[in-house]
Amino acid sequence: MNKSKSKFIGIFGGTFDPVHKGHTEIIKNLFELIPLDKVIVIPNGIPPHKPVSVSSEERLRMVTSAFKDVDKVVIDNREIRKKDTSYAISTLKELIEENVDHSLVWIMGSDAFSEIDSWYQWQDFIKMVNIIVMVRPNHEIPFDSEAYKLLSKSHTIDKESLNSGSEKIYLLRIRPIEISSTNIRNKINEGKDVSEFLLEEVNELITKRNLYQ
Ligand code: ATP
Repeated sequence: MNKSKSKFIGIFGGTFDPVHKGHTEIIKNLFELIPLDKVIVIPNGIPPHKPVSVSSEERLRMVTSAFKDVDKVVIDNREIRKKDTSYAISTLKELIEENVDHSLVWIMGSDAFSEIDSWYQWQDFIKMVNIIVMVRPNHEIPFDSEAYKLLSKSHTIDKESLNSGSEKIYLLRIRPIEISSTNIRNKINEGKDVSEFLLEEVNELITKRNLYQ
């Protein structure tokens, strides 16, 4: 009998309000640096930390369109379907149960990681999975933060080790991409052109539906 090969799967959550070229480029870049078999992109339904500007359905539509040509990426709409606050730990528990034969690694930017101690049940969360933190321009992890302490304790420089176990944190200096959703929303609001930061179809969706005006 053929035993199915274990896969190495990345999980990339976000509000994607809107999804931008930074998001798609970091994932493409990540595939070049880490031998991931697949990345699951999960737009938050109702994020606990920040208000969203457009509906979950609009954000899901934009995310689906942005990643449609990126190989080995699947969009998972579970948090949007749930209609209640999206806690990373609940999603992670479900994904672990669904992928018992596979290794999971959580992917996030250094800004998100810096605030990890505000995540619901964060101490349990970090014990359950390995994490890749992508250093974002102008977002170094503050020295006095819980995130920094956590990094000092659980930091690994061995990227091969991310494919097993949990509680390891790998800091990845990817090609920096200075784009954020906040900046894009502000620019749209000021009537500025944001096409250089967005995938063409996402830009069209935003214009057609008058989003972020
Ligand atoms: P906002 O400006 O609204 O906070 P954002 O641009 O950070 O939005 P999110 O949807 O919050 O976008 O990001 C999802 C994940 O992608 C987070 O972990 C975030 O840190 C990471 N991320 C977003 N943009 C970049 C970027 N340019 N470089 C590295 N990581 C990024």
